[in-house]
Amino acid sequence: MIKENLNKIRATLPEGVTLVAVSKTKPVSDLQEAYDAGQRVFGENHALEMRDKHEALPQDIQWHFIGHLQTNKIKYIIPFVTLIHSIDSANLLEAVNKEAKKHDRVVDCLLQFHIAQEETKFGLDLEEARQLLDSEAFKQMENVRICGVMGMATFTDDEAEIHKEFKHLKAIFDTLKHDYFPNQPQFKEISMGMSDDYPIAVEEGATMVRVGSKIFGARFYNGR
Ligand SMILES: *Cc1c(COP(=O)(O)O)cnc(C)c1O
Repeated sequence: MIKENLNKIRATLPEGVTLVAVSKTKPVSDLQEAYDAGQRVFGENHALEMRDKHEALPQDIQWHFIGHLQTNKIKYIIPFVTLIHSIDSANLLEAVNKEAKKHDRVVDCLLQFHIAQEETKFGLDLEEARQLLDSEAFKQMENVRICGVMGMATFTDDEAEIHKEFKHLKAIFDTLKHDYFPNQPQFKEISMGMSDDYPIAVEEGATMVRVGSKIFGARFYNGR
């Protein structure tokens, strides 16, 4: 089923949109099945789980971290992580930079924005992002590279609301691109859209979609 699901989703994605297969809570055998079907980009939201899967699976997988990252867990993923989608504070970015320096790496990161109505979802607003990008501390960070933005829409059936929230994230991306990254081609990613709303996200300009249950089936524990 995993292979069929992947092929179905891939067929609907325009060229240039990266499919991140969100494999959190799923066993290594499921990831291997997706790998055998050609999938190379996987998303996880727990540092130790991601480290263990990284050790168990082929080394050409690109590992994307998509969950809330605690600073004391950064060290487990820095040696191999490809992209951290979920930078939601200046402190976290600084801590990632520090750890990346130890490993002599430059780690690609996205700034996560709070675009949903729910209070619980992590993320910056535009003002906080400006403060971060204007800060002296940021200018000193040589071991992180900001490659774009990430956000999660409200969990709702109201498609107009979802369109509005993804449009908002696209507008934030355009503003930051114009004001801070006009000559930096690496600032190009808009990570938005999950199993239930990725077609809307693609319509609104997503360059990366993060799809879990539509590939691997429902997760036993909600939210994880
Ligand atoms: C779990 C998760 C996803 C994927 O969710 P599905 O609804 O299963 O596709 C995407 N993004 C983040 C940040 C997640 O935590």
